[in-house]
Amino acid sequence: MSQSKKIIILGGGFGGIYTALELERRFRAEESVEITLVNQDNFLLFTPMLHEIAASDLDPTDIVNPIHKLLKKTKFFCGSVDAVDIAKKTVTVSHGAEYHSHVLSYDQLVLALGSVTHFFGLPGLAENALTMKSLGDAMHLRNQMISMLEEADFECCKSLRGKLLTFVVAGGGFAGVETVAAINDFLRGVLPFYSNLKPSDLRVILAHSGEVVLPELDSTLGRYAGTLLQERGVEIKFKSKVTSFENHSVTFSDGSACEACTVVWTAGNAPNPLLQQIQCDKDRGRIAVDENLAVRGAPGVWALGDCATIPDGNGGCYPPTAQHSIREAVTLAHNIAADMRGEKPRPFRFRTLGQLASLGHRSGVAQIFGFRFSGFWAWWLWRTVYLMKLPRFEKRFRVALNWTLDVLFAKDNVQLPVTRASVLRVPMSIKHAQGDAVS
Ligand SMILES: Cc1cc2nc3c(=O)[nH]c(=O)nc-3n(C[C@H](O)[C@H](O)[C@H](O)COP(=O)(O)OP(=O)(O)OC[C@H]3O[C@@H](n4cnc5c(N)ncnc54)[C@H](O)[C@@H]3O)c2cc1C
Repeated sequence: MSQSKKIIILGGGFGGIYTALELERRFRAEESVEITLVNQDNFLLFTPMLHEIAASDLDPTDIVNPIHKLLKKTKFFCGSVDAVDIAKKTVTVSHGAEYHSHVLSYDQLVLALGSVTHFFGLPGLAENALTMKSLGDAMHLRNQMISMLEEADFECCKSLRGKLLTFVVAGGGFAGVETVAAINDFLRGVLPFYSNLKPSDLRVILAHSGEVVLPELDSTLGRYAGTLLQERGVEIKFKSKVTSFENHSVTFSDGSACEACTVVWTAGNAPNPLLQQIQCDKDRGRIAVDENLAVRGAPGVWALGDCATIPDGNGGCYPPTAQHSIREAVTLAHNIAADMRGEKPRPFRFRTLGQLASLGHRSGVAQIFGFRFSGFWAWWLWRTVYLMKLPRFEKRFRVALNWTLDVLFAKDNVQLPVTRASVLRVPMSIKHAQGDAVS
């Protein structure tokens, strides 16, 4: 083996974690190989189930796995990546309450920093819209829906009910459709607990730029999904995009507008902005890698997942999905080991297995190995496949248990506040305090 021994992985999503797991397997017996993973959160988020947190089907901790429990040999650095210097082979990371920095040197570097939400500079969206990318986003959306219901239920807010109870989701791809289906189910499921509100007060809108939702799937499945959502009360604005969201007013590209307090934006992604300052080949802002997942002109630097453009061998590139990131990670780890041992790398080749979307109410759509499913069986497949994919038995057990309990109980409409309880900051005499306590 060459002298290369320090491997640093930036990003603890699907790409980063699965690369670390595979490297651990390959270098299990080699003490001299040091693997470090840097991520800003100390957990791996299982994004395919994120909408179930927003819709109160699962508890927030059900779909996240602590990195410390996932990785055995890898050192975990919980902090933020601030800079990458490819010429000097260093990475600057910061952490702690005061954000102090460390400069880490590497022999092999893996870039797995994912993507961020992109609002295309549309007025008011970055400031006012909610997003659906992180665990915090899903909890925020759940809290927002419940706050709106609580406020609208009061008679004094009768005149505001229209905008309080209008929920707009922008984007008819997987994330948008699963989110709108989940929040529509949640809102209609808990509405009977609010005595002054009736189903006709609710307005759930999906804005989609195309003629059929879920354009990633066969159009028959997209049409099925669209019709099902409409039957359940979702208003779909086809061939229309959200163009602004300011002062509780949403405008659409078809010229229409509505009042709403809640817009969930799932209609755009951009490469992680940190990539801009990394000196290497890019393709529309993403790291351009060759078919071995190596960054061109930067020996020992690799990239995968949503932050990379990976050629698929047919003139295109692989889509940014967890399904692909996990497989890319295995090839990437193989190629790092090959590089360190002076062996030949192998190209990444993978045929998409299929895609599934949950539409709530025990229904879904799925396209697997060219076969199309819709309705109950697609929903059952969605649950089975993703339950098996969720890392660690403990989490799978918790999710299965919660799904089972879901059959017996109504959706939970408690808010998940993260504010601290009020405290008394000025000194108070003991007598006064005791008097208060018994009065
Ligand atoms: C709502 C939703 C649903 C989805 N559903 C599916 C699905 O059903 N099936 C599927 O295949 N795919 C799905 N995806 C896509 C899938 O989640 C992504 O393709 C996948 O997560 C990409 O993996 P990654 O490792 O490249 O990036 P990510 O998983 O985004 O990981 C990047 C990591 O880098 C960290 N990071 C970023 N910047 C820094 C920094 N400066 N310092 C430290 N850490 C940093 C982030 O915190 C994150 O942990 C879904 C995505 C979303 C948002």
